[in-house]
Amino acid sequence: CAIPTLRLNNGVLIPQLGFGTYKLPPDQTRDLVLCAFDAGYRHVDTAQMYRNEREVGQALAASGLPRAEVFVTTKLNNAFHAHDAALAAFARSLDALGTDYVDLFLIHWPLPALGLYTQAWAALEEIAASGRARAIGVSNFQPAHLERVLETGTVVPAVNQVEAHPYLRQDEVRAFDAAHGIVTQAWSPLGRGTVLGDSVIADVAARHGVTPAQAVLRWHVQRGDVVFPKSAKPARIAENADIFGFALGEEDMAAIDGLNRDGRTGSHPDTEN
Ligand code: NAD
Repeated sequence: CAIPTLRLNNGVLIPQLGFGTYKLPPDQTRDLVLCAFDAGYRHVDTAQMYRNEREVGQALAASGLPRAEVFVTTKLNNAFHAHDAALAAFARSLDALGTDYVDLFLIHWPLPALGLYTQAWAALEEIAASGRARAIGVSNFQPAHLERVLETGTVVPAVNQVEAHPYLRQDEVRAFDAAHGIVTQAWSPLGRGTVLGDSVIADVAARHGVTPAQAVLRWHVQRGDVVFPKSAKPARIAENADIFGFALGEEDMAAIDGLNRDGRTGSHPDTEN
């Protein structure tokens, strides 16, 4: 089944499923991204921090896919929030990716103690205005950080990419995003694997004849979020994309909703610096 798209607040369409590339083995990244393209993915999530933009770019080139058919996201690394540093880092990303535009460029972390994210946002607005990013957004922003961006900026972020999965539902952040027309992207949608052994998820999966990973990814998609699970195993890469031929019922959704807890696997946005 075809991968659905969501319309961002500036009209750009984003495939609701993508391929995550954090911590893929560097020497296999090119081939694994090509494997994802073979499995039907048309959206890749990378970052300056992952040090694999060049390999992602090599896969893009080797795939032979028209550039317009692939949605590419990358992210500004933490050292480059100052205005000119952000512009220079973005230019390096384009060079590494071998493309003259990205579909989405994000501020990776707000780093509130540094206090430069509104300056970084101004740089991203310039990049968007130049046409070299079709959309711009943020990652790991709490509502308080987004409020400052909304106050000081002129463009509303298209997305907010945050850790979210059944053990970290992120109700507050998602409600704030939705109220402002910001699409939520769920990073570590499988909780880095931590949620996959849960008996509630196993039961939901069994009822639909799917795997736990497929049940969890389907839950995300039905909540309306964008997901980009990561796997370095071709069979799992294909499995994770095969989630559009079944639907969870209200009871299944409620059962997975009920697993919410303080299950953060990554850094907290207020303290990461
Ligand atoms: P994830 O939740 O996608 O989990 C990946 C792990 O789950 C794999 O390493 C594997 O162990 C397991 N897995 C994957 N598919 C499986 C399957 N079908 N069956 C069984 N096990 C399976 O974790 P992630 O890689 O941390 O997150 C996904 C992507 O989100 C990243 O690759 C990256 O692109 C993005 N991300 C963004 C941020 C950010 O700060 N913006 C932080 C972390 C991750």
